Amino acid sequence: MKRFIYADNAATSKLSPQALEAMISYLSKEYANPSQLYTFAKRPKNALKESRQIIAECIGASPEEIFFTSCGTESDNWAIHEAIERGYDIVTSSIEHHAVLHPCQKAEQGGVSVAYLSVDHDGLVSVTNLAQNIGRSETLVSIMMANNEIGSIQPIKDLCEVAHSKGALFHTDAVQAVGHIRIDVHDLGVDMLSASAHKFNGPKGIGFLYVRKDIDMSPYISGGGQEYGLRSGTENVASIVGMAVALRENIESLEKNQSHIQHLESLILRLLDESDIIYQRNGADNHVPGNISLSFPGHSGESILHRLDLQGICISTGSACNSKDTVVSHVLKAIGLPDDIAQSTVRISLGKYNSEDEIISIVESLSKL
Ligand code: PLP
Repeated sequence: MKRFIYADNAATSKLSPQALEAMISYLSKEYANPSQLYTFAKRPKNALKESRQIIAECIGASPEEIFFTSCGTESDNWAIHEAIERGYDIVTSSIEHHAVLHPCQKAEQGGVSVAYLSVDHDGLVSVTNLAQNIGRSETLVSIMMANNEIGSIQPIKDLCEVAHSKGALFHTDAVQAVGHIRIDVHDLGVDMLSASAHKFNGPKGIGFLYVRKDIDMSPYISGGGQEYGLRSGTENVASIVGMAVALRENIESLEKNQSHIQHLESLILRLLDESDIIYQRNGADNHVPGNISLSFPGHSGESILHRLDLQGICISTGSACNSKDTVVSHVLKAIGLPDDIAQSTVRISLGKYNSEDEIISIVESLSKL
């Protein structure tokens, strides 16, 4: 394959070699079903236990608060499903990922009251606005920790405090945040938190939902009773192991990764400033390192994407999960970008494996366009 530059880490990230190495034996030799009682099943069973423990430690939780799922989408769907099962109202934001928005819209069609909070120009939800929109204690608030298109980080602790003061439950979609910023679920106070391994250099098709111990969840997938009877299905042992190893690796070198990525982010912005390219940066000052939403007025984001692609550079126009969609991104709309500016927007998302040389090549290619 010819050399390419991968700058779409918010869509998915390269699997860590350490995670891959840890997974291999569970895909080959140690293939027993972890629920079985014989000795051969012991190692996969222990691997699940150990992985649950590692993941819990990485976010300040207890192992029994971690439920393995098939992806971030499933974790989000489960949280919304819980609100529906309880007959709760839902309060969410207008910039959530479709993994939250679509089940909310479906719930609305089924008669559930759903409020979609607006955001400011930086993509932030107002604490006061949240307080005003919680009508009764039987409410689930679901506000994402970090936005996938613009990287803005919400004031989750404050939002959570307000939700709790009204007696509501609080879920956060932390798919873009876990493994990239430090998270302590007890410090934040969240009741549920969604994560996905492929966003933090783990394998695709595996995620988890954190659920605070004293919350009584309804079963989401019924069957053989795995995941404490709440999410049945034979566990994806190799991927769970890979997820735990990747997360631990990222958490152990969190500050180092952050400063490397922040350095690359500053470099890209400095080089753009030094060029004669006219651009604007979108999103809040407090954002996930490396998530860079840039609008180039007068140009088409989609055409920039395709022309960079010809040079082996991978970036995105908006949310990766709806990249086939040509409608203007709901996030860029919600932060008040006019349609023409929204359509001139691309997302460059950097990760720990990116280098200075790659940044220089990206800006050189943008300059040539
Ligand atoms: N939530 C956010 C914020 C995301 O960015 C994504 C994926 O892009 C998801 C949820 C869905 O995660 P997954 O791809 O693991 O289903």
